[in-house]
Amino acid sequence: MKNIAIDGPAGAGKSTIAKLAAKELGFIYVDTGSMYRAMALACIRQGVKPEEEEKVTKVCQSVQVSIEYKDGQQIVLLNGENVNPYIRTEEVGKMTSAIAVYQGVREKLLELQRDLAKKADVIMDGRDIGTCVLPDADVKIFMTASSVTRARRRYTELKEKGIECNIEDIEKDIIERDERDSNRKIAPLRQAEDAIVIDSSNMSVEESVAAVIKLVKGA
Ligand code: C5P
Repeated sequence: MKNIAIDGPAGAGKSTIAKLAAKELGFIYVDTGSMYRAMALACIRQGVKPEEEEKVTKVCQSVQVSIEYKDGQQIVLLNGENVNPYIRTEEVGKMTSAIAVYQGVREKLLELQRDLAKKADVIMDGRDIGTCVLPDADVKIFMTASSVTRARRRYTELKEKGIECNIEDIEKDIIERDERDSNRKIAPLRQAEDAIVIDSSNMSVEESVAAVIKLVKGA
């Protein structure tokens, strides 16, 4: 099986690019952020606060998270319910990075992610894929972009969905989230030693997809 790991900060374009590259290569695209987001949604729904580690861990250990594919799109199921429509908000994003620091939360998803990579050719995106989930991946990519570019992209994405937002708040949230993801003790966001950096700040989606495909084909 071929395993491609793509890590990087929020809004760097990982999911857009990984999805298109996977389609062209005939690989399965695995979005690990959505799995963490599903667990954050479960915590929000149960009224648990992010700092309540024990309660957060208990909620996460008790729910069932799985994924399936419909028309090539990844659907995240939380106790069997398709939660895709609820997990991409800023509120869920913030809660996700706050609970993703806990060991019990991360353990829950590690095996699921490794199993998926054993069964199929995958492009998996996240924060700790090259460093922790798939340390033996065939290709490791660290995708990044300036915080201004990333904020602008997130803003456009939310606006297109009809969600009211403010670009300064988004940039602040993104910086805060990256800081927390990079400074946590367990599985922090970090470039693997053998990862290749793609800075997508001044690249079009097509150029970034082509760069990923070239690396995969050359591996
Ligand atoms: O990629 P996305 O923005 O959906 O990720 C949401 C949050 O989930 C990240 O900010 C991070 O805290 C967490 N995450 C993680 N490990 C991953 C993927 C996501 O900790 N592999």
